[in-house]
Formats: sequence, structure tokens, C-alpha cells
Amino acid sequence: QWTGLNELREKYLHYFETKGHLRLGSFPLVPKDDPSLLLINSGMAPMKKWFLGQEEPPRHRVTTCQKCIRTPDIERVGITARHGCFFEMLGNFSFQDYFKKEVIPWAWEFLTKELEIPADRLYISVYQEDDEAYDIWTKEVGIPEDHMVRLGKEDNFWEHGSGPCGPCSEIYYDRGLKYGCGKPTCGVGCDCDRFMEIWNLVFSQYDADGKGNYELLAKPNIDTGMGLERLAVVMQDVNNLFEVDTVAAVLHHVERIAGKKYGENEKDDISIRVITDHIRATVFMASDGILPSNEGRGYVMRRLLRRAARHGRMLGINRPFLTELVETVIESSEAGYPELREHESYIKKVIGTEELRFGRTIDAGLNILTGMMGRLKEAHEKVLSGVEAFKLNDTFGFPLDLTREIAAEAGFAVDEAAFHIEMTKQRERARAERLAKDISGWSADLFGELTAEPTQFDGYETLSEKAKVL
Ligand code: ATP
Ligand code: MG
Ligand code: MG
Ligand code: MG
Repeated sequence: QWTGLNELREKYLHYFETKGHLRLGSFPLVPKDDPSLLLINSGMAPMKKWFLGQEEPPRHRVTTCQKCIRTPDIERVGITARHGCFFEMLGNFSFQDYFKKEVIPWAWEFLTKELEIPADRLYISVYQEDDEAYDIWTKEVGIPEDHMVRLGKEDNFWEHGSGPCGPCSEIYYDRGLKYGCGKPTCGVGCDCDRFMEIWNLVFSQYDADGKGNYELLAKPNIDTGMGLERLAVVMQDVNNLFEVDTVAAVLHHVERIAGKKYGENEKDDISIRVITDHIRATVFMASDGILPSNEGRGYVMRRLLRRAARHGRMLGINRPFLTELVETVIESSEAGYPELREHESYIKKVIGTEELRFGRTIDAGLNILTGMMGRLKEAHEKVLSGVEAFKLNDTFGFPLDLTREIAAEAGFAVDEAAFHIEMTKQRERARAERLAKDISGWSADLFGELTAEPTQFDGYETLSEKAKVL
């Protein structure tokens, strides 16, 4: 039965409240006290201290819907049906409280009873050695064996260096043959869009020392994550996560600005989906106080915005347009994230400024790059030099990732090592310049100080003279 994304979020959080969970709001995208992570990429990420027992959680059962950014998925965005750089992750968490026996039947009940998803469309994977989970699924929940798969460590063992880790079990939805790759090997775990992973249940029952030794925890944890947009794809029976109600509002706005009809040309559709995703991601980033820059989170944001701007050019949009989309993103997401409306004018300013900045150089940069690639082609060369990539970055504001991507589309590589050497050289030049300025500034100040006394003295004299006169 068709269910809107906002309603789905509410249903999930409510369901886990009835199972004794405390509902918390989404944590910000910027991790707190976690230098290992640039941006929050899962529901559990902001809760590591609760899992590790380093901090006492507000309750031992918590449920959230977490805004997430995953830039490692960037190349899949707009291409697969199921990946966004930005998405929302539903999760229920047990900190040394319930375990497999509770969470598996709950997950099943939520999907098949609350949401009435047909059971025969669902497939389950477990870690190959996890007989316990396999038995709960088959004997207690009653999943037939032909809907169960055992997968290896790569897919079904969740681990992050040292600390709590363990096997996981994933729930897949069969979207039918028309989404399949058609290969004879196609099945659960295939990379195509037919068997779509919707929910990951992680049984963190070991403490890893990071050297391959696992100690069974006295009290294990549960960490689950389900993509809200993916669940909505299932419930709304749409092609991909960009066609889900709230996201589609943004997609349609892009369509209107571009004057293109979505669904007529695959190449245009990819650009429309990329813009839709990237503007959502960057609106949320701006709302959490991230500013475009050349480093860290700021670089991620700059890259997403400039990539979106370039896809706008590919659609034939020849004016600033990203700022216009901000309003639609806020409208479509404010039900779950009221902070967006609160920060509205700030978000528009941040995105507008960045768009203008890049807007001044994007066309010139694209022309230069096209020229560079033309010359490479004539010379039968395959690699854009580091100096050229650097020039595009330095003069035209093209992040390396964007240059690499455009070059790759035309069959060229970029000499990235040489690019980084140029960057380092520039950084050193800038530092030397700064240093030179600092020293002259310092000496000027010092000079000022040295001359201050006589000046003051003069002034004083003048003043007293004035006073005398008065
Ligand atoms: P996939 O294998 O499809 O890339 P994953 O195994 O990397 O997903 P998890 O880390 O297990 O994903 O995250 C939990 C859930 O979050 C997934 O089951 C999926 O529903 C959702 N999810 C993960 N990555 C994305 C994404 N890029 N866009 C939308 N939803 C996502
Ligand atoms: Mg993934
Ligand atoms: Mg997966
Ligand atoms: Mg997974």
C-alpha cells in the first residue's frame, strides 16, 4: 500500500517506541569527537561511545532516523536505482540489551505486518558461520530455505578496525526481473537493482583487537540500518529513490528549470538525478554549518555543488539555478528536519555564494578543458598532465575529482601524482608569502610600537599645551 516517506519514518520510529525504544532526533552530519570520520554515514556512527560502553546512553534501547552522507557512493549516484550521497537511515539500537532473538522477529513483523510487504518478495542473507541467526530466521520466523543465503565476511561481517563487531544479516527485496541484470548468476548479493538491500541487522557480539582476534562480549549490542528512501521505493513502487514522493519534488523542480522531461533521455535523467541528490546533500550540509572550502568536509561540499553545477550545464542550464532548488529541498524535508527552515536564509546564502563563485569560471574552465583534451587526442595521448589539472583547479575552481570525472568520460586519465606535487608547491608558495607578509607585518607593528612613544609624547605635549591654551 502506497505510503509517503514522512509517514514511513513515523511508522518505523513509532513501532520501535512500542518495543521500549527511546526516540531521538537525527544527530548533525558533523561527527562529534570522532576524528576518524568526516561525515556521519550511518545511524550508529554518532553512538559509538554507547556501543563501546564509554558513555552511558539515555536508554539502552534507542531508535532514530539519521541524515547520512556517503561520498564513496558518488559514482553510483544517478546510475543505480538505490544510491544517493545523501539519504536517511532508520535504525533501532540495543546497547547491551536485546539481541538476535528479539531483533529478527521485530524486523520481520515491521516489514510484513506493519507495512504488509509480501513475504515472498523478501530474501535474507546471514553470515556463513552464523547458524544461530540462520535458525532464528528459518525455524522461528519461518523463512523458507530458498529465500535464505549465507554470505562471506566481505558482505555479512561488520567490522571497523578494533572494537565491537560481528556478523550481520541483511534483508533484500526482490524488485522483479525487469530490474535484473539478466546474468545467470543474478541473485541476492548481485550488484544490479533487482535484489535491493533494504535493511542491515548487525549483531555486534565480539570485541576485536584489530589483529584478527575476536573475544565474545558478555553483553552484545544490536545496530540496524534501513535506508528510508529505499523502503519508500518498495512502498511506492517507483523505479528508484529519486522518484520517491519527497525526493521527486526536487527532481521535478530540476526538470522545470532545465526545461527537460524526465524519462525521455537516459543521459539527461542521470544529470537530473545527480543534481537532485547533490542539492539535497549540500542543503543539509549547509544547515549543519559546513561551508564550501578546499579541505575536509568543506571540500566534499564544494565538490558536490560544483558537480551539480556542471550537470546543470550538461542539461543546458546557463544561469545560476542551485539556489532556486534550496526552497524545494526545504519544503520537502522540513517535516523531518525543522532545522532546515530555521536556517533557510543562511543556507541560501552559502549555496548562492558558492554557485556565483564557480559560475564565473565554469564555462571558461570547461572550454579550456575541452581544448586540452582535444590536443591530447591529436597527439594520441591518454593522460592529462598534473600542471593542466592544477591550472583548472587554481584558475577555474575545478576540484580534481571533477576534472578526473570529465576526463574519464572522454577516455582520459589525469596525472594525479603530478597534480598533488603542483598543489604542494602552491601551498609552499602561499606559506612563504604569508610568512613574508607576517614578518613585514610584525616588523611594521614593532616599528609602530617603537615610534609610538614619541608620538604619544608629542600628543601629550600638544594636549597639555592645548590645555594651557584653554
Ligand atoms: P549497498 O550494498 O546497497 O551499497 P550497504 O551494505 O553499503 O548498501 P549499509 O552500510 O548496510 O549499506 O547501510 C544500511 C542501509 O542503508 C542499507 O541496507 C540501505 O538500505 C541504506 N543505504 C546504504 N547506502 C545507501 C545509499 N548510498 N543511498 C541510499 N540508501 C543507502
Ligand atoms: Mg554500499
Ligand atoms: Mg550491502
Ligand atoms: Mg549492508
